[in-house]
Amino acid sequence: MTKIIDGKKVSKEIKENLKKVIELFSSKPKLAIIQVGDDSASEIYVNMKRRETTKIGIDFMLIKYDSDINEKIIEETIKSLNKDKSINGILIQLPLPSNMDAKRILNLIDPIKDVDGLTNYNIVKLINKEDAIIPCTPFGIIKLLEYYNIDVRDKKVVIIGRSNLVGRPLCNMLLNMDATVTVCHSKTKNLKDYTKRADVLFTATGKKHLITRDMIQKDAVLIDVGINRENGKLSGDVDFDNVYKKCSMITPVPGGVGPMTIAMLLYNLVSCYKKQNNKE
Ligand code: NDP
Repeated sequence: MTKIIDGKKVSKEIKENLKKVIELFSSKPKLAIIQVGDDSASEIYVNMKRRETTKIGIDFMLIKYDSDINEKIIEETIKSLNKDKSINGILIQLPLPSNMDAKRILNLIDPIKDVDGLTNYNIVKLINKEDAIIPCTPFGIIKLLEYYNIDVRDKKVVIIGRSNLVGRPLCNMLLNMDATVTVCHSKTKNLKDYTKRADVLFTATGKKHLITRDMIQKDAVLIDVGINRENGKLSGDVDFDNVYKKCSMITPVPGGVGPMTIAMLLYNLVSCYKKQNNKE
């Protein structure tokens, strides 16, 4: 019988543990988010981050700018947050307006406060299998694999999507776990040739129903990262209803990878706090 991978349940356990850890700290950890513009999805994500951080005893600060703000001002804000000892983590809510150099702005964050793990410093550490802050979504996915004892060693795994946020760091983490990894993207021809061979298939494209029943191997494990919003309803990249019975395990959307992303943001922030206060 197909098993649903319950990200809600796993993330709840992680958050409850973090809450207990935070209660033992002498001060509250604090997250600062910089949001530029009024992207509607960003608005939802920032509100969710505010709610989830405060729920477990993390202080939250939002610095919001209009989309026509001068990059210099963002630069100055990041520098001052880097210096501020009361701030343990800095997050730039993506996407930034297209005229801004997101990569340059992200790299202004002090790597020890880089809760999203998106600075070059942390990316290189992850590639080199060193102690890195790991981007929250792939980190959450790996936690799900661990929780459900999904062993990727020696397995054929396929990732669809090569973004810095999901596909690339996930590829490195899976390689570090001895999986045999293939990464596909929008220029991949005959996607099905690859997906059909996957023991574990990860998809992160944001293309609704990209993955159909005929594209997967029987009893494959499916991890669906994609989020598509249609008339207020969320769905993933996988045609869930038709694929469900053919696979052995699957993440639903919503309720799969999404809740894990936010849980790992909290986890990263607590790790940053510990490192900055010599608590590990
Ligand atoms: P990006 O747009 O940065 O990357 C999408 C990737 O998918 C690209 O590598 C692109 O290829 C590839 N792609 C697009 N269309 C196809 C296709 N038809 N066939 C094969 N590959 C394709 O998005 P993100 O990585 O940031 O996010 C991906 C999805 O995951 C989105 O739906 C996003 O909302 C969701 N997401 C969910 C999170 C969660 O917590 N659940 C967290 C982060 C993201 P190419 O590189 O060639 O353009």
